[in-house]
Amino acid sequence: MTTILRPGQFGVSSGEIPEWRPPDPGVFAQRARRLRQLAAGHSMATYLEFSAALAEAQQAQFDALAALPLPDATSLARRREHGMPPLAPAGWPPDPVWRAVAVRLADEIDTIAPEPARAAFARLRGAGADWLEAQAKALLAEDRQALDLACAPLIGAALQVCWTRLAAALDATWIARPEASHSCPVCGQPPVAAVVRAGDADSGRRYLHCALCGTEWHVVRAQCSQCDNDKGIVYFAVENSKQPIQAEACPECGSYLKLCRLEKTPEAEPLADDLASIALDLLMGEEKFARSGLNYFMLQNG
Ligand SMILES: [Zn+2]
Ligand SMILES: [Zn+2]
Repeated sequence: MTTILRPGQFGVSSGEIPEWRPPDPGVFAQRARRLRQLAAGHSMATYLEFSAALAEAQQAQFDALAALPLPDATSLARRREHGMPPLAPAGWPPDPVWRAVAVRLADEIDTIAPEPARAAFARLRGAGADWLEAQAKALLAEDRQALDLACAPLIGAALQVCWTRLAAALDATWIARPEASHSCPVCGQPPVAAVVRAGDADSGRRYLHCALCGTEWHVVRAQCSQCDNDKGIVYFAVENSKQPIQAEACPECGSYLKLCRLEKTPEAEPLADDLASIALDLLMGEEKFARSGLNYFMLQNG
């Protein structure tokens, strides 16, 4: 019997090509390097440099963090049986260590932070556990009305450190085929952007990069990750931009996701290149497309 796979299906790999890639343990350092590279001559250089310092602080926290407890085997088996991502935050609150990580990140970058961010850091340091947990919950549920938007990047950064550590330790056999191509198969969060890989066995394949845990999962190119439509997909880019980034837009549901091409710029990194291409988001807004990528470093109300 032959099983015919619909494009974009998960869980079956052809040869050595992975359907998902666990987070790279050096992901934050790589992001920091790319942010510094992008900052040179950029109109938002100060902001990108600040984000680079935050990513460096994240790498230091990640390297120093002891292994975190994963859900027990019974919970993991139940989640897999129901097609749920094994590390989805719903019903499984973050390990309290994330709050200490958030405070250490704030301490680390306080001196270089712009004034509004320092006020937010002070608020975060003075906050009780209940407030911090409520903010984490709102961030992970994308409840932007309940968020303190100035604190959200730091809270997101701390949660990224913890979830990246968890995802890197997870045995891949616990990962089930997810229901939607827009959700991370490991933690269920949306992607920040996509990458088209180059140079490896998976060269030319598109992976979506998780906003929270850094896992990358394969979704075929030229197919909308929001609604699975593959007709009339259009690509937009900012004229004369040196960045290897485009917006892949779907006329069916009106959403777009950025696509980072590594073939000519192997050092490109989805979160960093997303941050440095806000001009492309402005262009897409003018074209009446809605952003589907999630980036904790640039959340807006609404
Ligand atoms: Zn994830
Ligand atoms: Zn769509």
